[in-house]
Amino acid sequence: MVLDSAQTALRETTLQRPKIREGQILAQVCACAVCRTDLQVADGELPDPKLPLVLGHEIVGRVVEAGKKADRFKLGARVGIPWLGWTCGECRYCRSGQENLCEKAKFNGYTLDGGYAEYMAADERYCFEIPESYSDVHAAPLMCAGLIGYRSLVKAGDAEHLGIYGFGAAAHIVCQIAKHQGRKVFAFTRPGDDKSQKFALSLGAVWAGDSKTQPPEQLDAAIIFASSGELVPQALRAVAPGGTVVCGGIHMSDIPSFPYDILWRERTVCSVANLTRRDGEEFMTLASTFPIKTIIQTFPFREANDALTHLRTGQLQGAAVLTMS
Ligand SMILES: [Zn+2]
Ligand SMILES: [Zn+2]
Repeated sequence: MVLDSAQTALRETTLQRPKIREGQILAQVCACAVCRTDLQVADGELPDPKLPLVLGHEIVGRVVEAGKKADRFKLGARVGIPWLGWTCGECRYCRSGQENLCEKAKFNGYTLDGGYAEYMAADERYCFEIPESYSDVHAAPLMCAGLIGYRSLVKAGDAEHLGIYGFGAAAHIVCQIAKHQGRKVFAFTRPGDDKSQKFALSLGAVWAGDSKTQPPEQLDAAIIFASSGELVPQALRAVAPGGTVVCGGIHMSDIPSFPYDILWRERTVCSVANLTRRDGEEFMTLASTFPIKTIIQTFPFREANDALTHLRTGQLQGAAVLTMS
């Protein structure tokens, strides 16, 4: 399923099987989850995508071919392929453990072809092993919603009272991890979105309400997964002095100006960009220690446009996952 240009529907077509280079594997895609970032790439909200482009960066596949010097996985092995597809290894970020900020980084389903396809090529160094206890379709959302969610949660520090704004795919995973770690989760949704509030409570949130209201207790930190900049001052008003507001998305609408008073007392606002391989290893280890229940709705991959529409219109609970025949 190919994106020819921004703001057009994906087109079903037949492509040549990708040719792999040194250090790459060819994966037969089993499942690919649909991320909000896919929608933002398709809508032209992120600059300079590769075009035409195969979207998709939450991929579970099986290794069917390995290039020269690619010996990390056996043929037939299951691999997870995330957003981060390649880094330079030389810039100041790569050398300081911040490859997520690499100046030359390439991203699957954005500047490299991704997983809305039956086959994809990937640099084996950026693939992950997936704990066996997860099926292909249930593992797929771990590859971005889970990973970026995990990095956001780490940025939130040891917050005991954790707010989550926007209760989609990432939030539904983070909520379970936070609960497992003994934290209290306060879930904020669009005003009147009772369905998402019930969903949050079913996954262990202690409170769920409208994003415009204040939680019953002050928060130690808040993570914003929704892309609305208005939520930043709202979250700052809900966090206690010293607390952090983490913006977990790649794209956010403008943040309205706000009184310094709500930032003062050492509150922090920060963003999360991409992931490092270390995040991936840590998160996969965590995912193997307790079962994260990913709630999914599957779509045959030819119906990728439908899956994107479901995400756009808020008709999903949890994550959409494309399945290959
Ligand atoms: Zn670099
Ligand atoms: Zn993503």
